[in-house]
Amino acid sequence: MQRERVSENVYWFQSDVYAQVTAGAVIGSQWAVMIDTLALPDESLEIRHFIEGQLGVPVRYVINTHFHADHAWGNCFFPGATVIASTACRDELQTQGAASLEAARHQNPIYKQVKLVYPHITFSEGSLTLRVGKKTLNLFATPGHSHDGISVLVEEDRVLFAGDVFLPLPYVVGGDLDDMNASIKKIGKMGLENIIQGHGDIVLRGEIDDAAQSLPRDLIKALVSPAQCMRRHDHVVHCQQRIIGSDRLLFEDIQPRAGNPSFHQRPLQRGPIDHLPPPHVDQQRAPLHGP
Ligand SMILES: [Zn+2]
Repeated sequence: MQRERVSENVYWFQSDVYAQVTAGAVIGSQWAVMIDTLALPDESLEIRHFIEGQLGVPVRYVINTHFHADHAWGNCFFPGATVIASTACRDELQTQGAASLEAARHQNPIYKQVKLVYPHITFSEGSLTLRVGKKTLNLFATPGHSHDGISVLVEEDRVLFAGDVFLPLPYVVGGDLDDMNASIKKIGKMGLENIIQGHGDIVLRGEIDDAAQSLPRDLIKALVSPAQCMRRHDHVVHCQQRIIGSDRLLFEDIQPRAGNPSFHQRPLQRGPIDHLPPPHVDQQRAPLHGP
């Protein structure tokens, strides 16, 4: 797992195992707040050991940016923490989570350790403010990647944990393209120092304008439908290379035969682009896809 201190008492974590998914932590003098949980139990526990063991404070709150497995299934590894999310996130976890987790357990016994913990505090409009130590966290809706998405702004540092609405390449899973573009546009105008994307590397201040530019609509549409994406392979690869540089691979399957319906199979990796993903998103009920 990668770990970086983004600003004083603000940390970023990135999985080495699954799709470069990210999580964050804001540390106060008495307790800490997690933002998302990563996908695999070992990595969630590694974060907890770092915060509780090395930094010496318990995790009192866990914020889920959205309901996808790779962001919310680690809630159970922070026992006693109060989970905060959008009301829609809680609804999705309650209606779809159990079936998805059951399916995931069949694919990989490691998920027998996972127990769904539904958000305890939710909000459906406006914003929510949480004060931890000297930091003010502002939670507000950023739908698009999924309809339940929220972002977390660390106001004092102008650091935004954006979840999957901000990715190296925009990607819709259960959300809405126009909502996503609106959220990205809004984020681009916030005067941020850093954007913590749901997957991939930290976006630095000087990179935000480029990163927040809206992509060609036909490309995004192609990405919304991987089946279509595959048909347009050459076009998409060309656009990916143009937009993000050919050294950053977006869609490469690390577990091509796992077939785990609860995780999307298009992790972010570095390397040449060989192939595009199978059309998971076109499947009915693939609810806990991520990013
Ligand atoms: Zn997601």
